[in-house]
Amino acid sequence: MSNQQNGQALRRSVAIVGSGPAGCYLAQFLRKSSPDAEITVFDRLPVPYGLIRYGVAADHQGTKAVTRQFDRLFEKEGVRFAGNVDVGTDIGLAELRETFDVVVLATGLYEDRTLGLQDDDNLHIYGAGRVTRVLNGHPAEASRSVILGEACVIVGNGNVAIDVLRLLVRPESGFADTDIDDDARSKMVSAPLRRVDIVGRASPRDARFDTTLIREFVDIEGVRFVVRDIERLGQEVGDGGKVDALLQLAASDHRPDADITVSFHFGWSPSGVLVEDGHLREIKFSATDGSGASLDLPADSVVTAIGFRSRDPETDKLGLGESNAVDPETGQIDDHLYCTGWYRRGPKGTIPENRSDARTVAAAIAAELSQPPQTAKGGFAGLPQILKEKVISFEDWQAIDAFEKADAAPNRRRRKVKDHQKLIEIALKARLDPTKGGNP
Ligand SMILES: Cc1cc2nc3c(=O)[nH]c(=O)nc-3n(C[C@H](O)[C@H](O)[C@H](O)COP(=O)(O)OP(=O)(O)OC[C@H]3O[C@@H](n4cnc5c(N)ncnc54)[C@H](O)[C@@H]3O)c2cc1C
Repeated sequence: MSNQQNGQALRRSVAIVGSGPAGCYLAQFLRKSSPDAEITVFDRLPVPYGLIRYGVAADHQGTKAVTRQFDRLFEKEGVRFAGNVDVGTDIGLAELRETFDVVVLATGLYEDRTLGLQDDDNLHIYGAGRVTRVLNGHPAEASRSVILGEACVIVGNGNVAIDVLRLLVRPESGFADTDIDDDARSKMVSAPLRRVDIVGRASPRDARFDTTLIREFVDIEGVRFVVRDIERLGQEVGDGGKVDALLQLAASDHRPDADITVSFHFGWSPSGVLVEDGHLREIKFSATDGSGASLDLPADSVVTAIGFRSRDPETDKLGLGESNAVDPETGQIDDHLYCTGWYRRGPKGTIPENRSDARTVAAAIAAELSQPPQTAKGGFAGLPQILKEKVISFEDWQAIDAFEKADAAPNRRRRKVKDHQKLIEIALKARLDPTKGGNP
């Protein structure tokens, strides 16, 4: 049976919700496996690429460059970017499913996990996701600042904790050719920041950060590094791994006039905070080895880098509910409904891990798309007119991109526009006069 209706070949349509790495890798695989399918990648923001733009550290531009391969999808391979569409608000999931043959949720996870120790902006206790969004100029953070004071404690020992540490202590001169939000960062460390303690539960050997990230600190001027707990936890040296990298860092002696002291602590679990007169004074830790030892660290602020919250069926605004279990093999949630990336696997894993995930999900979708359709669905053309009119296209994004690059401060790669509405205005203005896209 051929896929025909009124003599016309039926074009299968796929809506991918979320243009982060998970959504983009999925679109890449689907483009290859189902070359005739119409693929639309929606995002609630008017700009693509999720955490690549708004999570990955600004001084790791090499990592952000993965977007170049995704650009090709939208520029040359006929995949549509439909930004400024918040699924769950601008259009319900049910309506999207009525309009597209297959819908895939690739919306990532947004909320920081909290310590549950009086987490509060007024106390200057912030999640690392929030801090990295602020440093990356995310529109949702435009009106909220992060102030760290002179003494900041980072809780967590994963790569994100180390990224935050580096972004805080690297001197301003270390951000050449990046797209760091200079205003937000200056405000953050304006006290100025003098002391950072970074505290993990595990031993150094078992810490989750990559050794290469520790080696990066060796070139950072103006910071003194101290490593605690190596002996207390009986850590062996000489294995060329994390312990050695930390000790080499601490032994580097070219920082006699350091402005900032960074101390690494291992084997401690947070147990409480001391608040006096409404001000945070200390964060308290107890030893994870059962020894009963405790550690109190002075703190004007705390950054918790302990991961993101998993999908909560109670509050998930896409309304999947608890009954929709995800098939661990295929990412299928329901008929013609799938998920991929962090939304599917939980908040863990690097950008490339979303590629392997997307490959599996794409294979299941390709199998479905190869079957003759029961009915024709409208795809993008079938969306309500009012919704189509608010869509920010990839061409619009290219105008925004040009604007941000042209507006970059000297020595910087771009200056991100942080206001959602202004991003849209730039795109609309460029539509009227394409030559204005790159002129701030
Ligand atoms: C701070 C931080 C730094 C990181 N650094 C690195 C690194 O250096 N290297 C590395 O390999 N990995 C890094 N990672 C991990 C990497 O970012 C993730 O593996 C990856 O981004 C997950 O991809 P995703 O597409 O599932 O989610 P996301 O990247 O979060 O993308 C989800 C997209 O969905 C959109 N969206 C959400 N809800 C809706 C909705 N209702 N309607 C429409 N659109 C919606 C969002 O706007 C977003 O664009 C980092 C993660 C974090 C948090």
